[in-house]
Amino acid sequence: MTINNYKFAGKKAIVRVDFNVPLDENGKITDDTRIRGALPTLKKILVDGGALIIMSHMGKPKGKVQAKFSLAQIKDAVAAALGVPVKFAPDCAKAKAEADSLKPGEVLLLENLRFYPEEEGKPVGIEKEDPAYEEAKKAMKASQKEFAKTLASYADCYVNDAFGTAHRKHASTAVIADYFSADNKMLGYLMEKEVEAVDNILHNIRRPFTAIMGGSKVSTKIGIIENLMDKVDNLILCGGMTYTFAKAQGGKIGNSICEDDKLDLALDIIRQAKEKGVNLVLGSDCVAGDKFANDAKQIVVPANDIPEGWEGMDAGPETQKAFAKAIEGAKTILWNGPAGVFEFDNFTAGSRAIAEAIAKATDNGAYSLIGGGDSVACINKFGMADRVSYISTGGGALLEAIEGKVLPGVAAIKG
Ligand code: AMP
Repeated sequence: MTINNYKFAGKKAIVRVDFNVPLDENGKITDDTRIRGALPTLKKILVDGGALIIMSHMGKPKGKVQAKFSLAQIKDAVAAALGVPVKFAPDCAKAKAEADSLKPGEVLLLENLRFYPEEEGKPVGIEKEDPAYEEAKKAMKASQKEFAKTLASYADCYVNDAFGTAHRKHASTAVIADYFSADNKMLGYLMEKEVEAVDNILHNIRRPFTAIMGGSKVSTKIGIIENLMDKVDNLILCGGMTYTFAKAQGGKIGNSICEDDKLDLALDIIRQAKEKGVNLVLGSDCVAGDKFANDAKQIVVPANDIPEGWEGMDAGPETQKAFAKAIEGAKTILWNGPAGVFEFDNFTAGSRAIAEAIAKATDNGAYSLIGGGDSVACINKFGMADRVSYISTGGGALLEAIEGKVLPGVAAIKG
């Protein structure tokens, strides 16, 4: 079923959203992006004449009630965003009466799902090493099903619009779907867009396809690099991982960050690219600093010949040109991870060159997907968010999807 085809009139919809918004010390929301992200789905249900039961987690209360993680703090903001009053159920597992009394157009917000350990389904107060752990895990899985069944009993249909938690098999993100028939469960608009974005770069590829992987470490990106190796035409590897590759090939890298236990892996990636005919673009020069600080002295040197006492902190001018060349002619582009320490204003040039090349390619008809925390922060810092095709809202979920893993939240609905 899809959200556009479903007839919500007279029905109660339970919707899993990601309202895990940041709050200041007074409980005021400091960034409401996630609430705004769910509005198209929530408003569609209300406009169609449905009643809404909204559920989410906030923070990591570890299965205990903690006031600082209460969703009561955001009730008024949700009401203001939706333009209708919002009722609040202070116990998400005992909200049947409140749900039953909802009329079309009314909204009920449930308290933080993670006040119950059943939401995440992990046994509490017992270590993995404990001989009784497996038994405890089994018992917890059984009560997770009961918890999901209770949530499901509140509504006629289930909508999952929480992409940020789609890689988790939690009660509200996946298990609950078992209690609705295929005709009564669907992805929300935000989830649909994210799934389509992943599809555009994994299956529906227009060539040439350029992927840009940056950030600090190769080890955290290896799953994605390996999955993309069979799909891309150009693979740019940049950021801190540059120096692991430079050292692996016998280069001198001064104080640059390096994963010494990943040198063989770096050589293997170079070999794989050759075998598969992928154009691997690594930094040739870099901007090195004499300390890890914004006001560090700067020199431009070969990325494989960095003097002692200096560390590579950004892509150099030659490298920026090579990156731009591999990006500007592309028709499909994925960017994850910055090309330098972009948090320091004096070391943003490499990441900015990438962002500008992506914007240019997008102007020329390319599909560009930006995802994974820091490249999103980059594109926002440069004020270029509206110059790319899509910015993913899901960090870990997007990365797992690009690794080729099936997301439990999506599978529970689409099978
Ligand atoms: P990740 O979380 O692995 O995507 O890495 C993002 C982080 O990598 C950002 O905080 C950047 O500052 C950092 N980074 C990028 N290039 C470098 C570099 N050359 N040296 C140290 N850190 C870097």
